[in-house]
Amino acid sequence: MFLTHLECTACRDQAPAVGLQTVCSKCGSPWAVRYDLQAAADTLCRAPGSQSLRRSDERPHGLWRWHEVLPAADPEQAVTLGEGATPLLRLPRLGGELGVALWMKDESRNPTGSFKDRGMSVAVTMALELGARALATPSAGNAGGALAAYGARAGLPVHLAMPRDVPAANRIEAGLYGAQVTLIDGTIADCGKWIKARCEKNGWFDLSTLKEPYRVEGKKTMGYELVEQLGWRTPATILYPTGGGTGLVGMWKAFGEMQELGLLDPEAPLPRMVAVQASGCAPVVDAFRRGADRALAPEAPHTVAAGLRVPGPIGDRWMLRVLRESMGTAIAVTDDELIAGCSRAAKNEGVFCAPEGGALVAALEKGLASGEIPVDGDIVLFNTGTGLKYLECFA
Ligand SMILES: *Cc1c(COP(=O)(O)O)cnc(C)c1O
Repeated sequence: MFLTHLECTACRDQAPAVGLQTVCSKCGSPWAVRYDLQAAADTLCRAPGSQSLRRSDERPHGLWRWHEVLPAADPEQAVTLGEGATPLLRLPRLGGELGVALWMKDESRNPTGSFKDRGMSVAVTMALELGARALATPSAGNAGGALAAYGARAGLPVHLAMPRDVPAANRIEAGLYGAQVTLIDGTIADCGKWIKARCEKNGWFDLSTLKEPYRVEGKKTMGYELVEQLGWRTPATILYPTGGGTGLVGMWKAFGEMQELGLLDPEAPLPRMVAVQASGCAPVVDAFRRGADRALAPEAPHTVAAGLRVPGPIGDRWMLRVLRESMGTAIAVTDDELIAGCSRAAKNEGVFCAPEGGALVAALEKGLASGEIPVDGDIVLFNTGTGLKYLECFA
């Protein structure tokens, strides 16, 4: 195990990574997990003269393939449903129409149909290892279903608070996995308050986005996989549908780690990271465009893309720093545009994206037209979930 310590993403305070962890005790910002990457590079490296990782055949398939840079003490004990190892699809027709070399990392193939599984596999593994007795999270969509599934797999009770307008599939699957689901009249922020109060009172462990350090470690494996699939290089541009932002900051963390591990050329340019949000709830786009380093919550957040309905993300500073460091940008699209994006991807390429994924198609078209997204190089869209869980949006 190469885990060394936790470092605050805002004030840089450090703490030992022992016991159940929440956020920085000094400033309340999310922790970043740090590893001894020099030591990890002894085994997490490419075989001499080869495109493969050393001992590639001995590595498990999927997310736990990257166990040297994951926090579990014993990866054999991981709480897993076979998450990760998602395909990187070429999108030749859509790319041709837009005049770019286009790819889709298709996260809809994960066990519960979204990339939330990556975060929950690692976070539930750690919660179990560190002695949590019950798990809880607010969720406006896929996170609830994923936590319910991984909690069932771990044999731990799960408590969820969901807005009453959560997609039916997410509510139904969570109940089927045995989670206690409470529907709240309000947004994800209200659900968060409900969960926080009960975590304090009942001793449940809170797995809200970035309120514990390990979900982002699971999500960062999207970056590791992408680089390996492209032959140990990064694309020019990545578009990511941004709610809490764990994938955005996680992938950026992964690229930095891969440079230190020697899996990426430290001189080669890193991708431009593009955050995409729905115009009914676009606090990160708004802050980026204002040049601010904190996001302001919109008054009445609304969008059919449930995963983007995050008015007050706790990782706002971290996300905005990544967007600026990567020379990226942030683009908002309307609900009509994102649904049209889904239909365009489905008709042209045979993939049924979640509305969050469809938003990327619309944002790419906008960004190319305005010149904010250059046409050069490979462009990767992260389809974060399956459209099958949002049938009411398409009916
Ligand atoms: C949760 C979710 C998002 C947003 O992910 P963050 O890491 O919170 O930014 C995007 N798309 C889908 C399908 C989701 O479930």
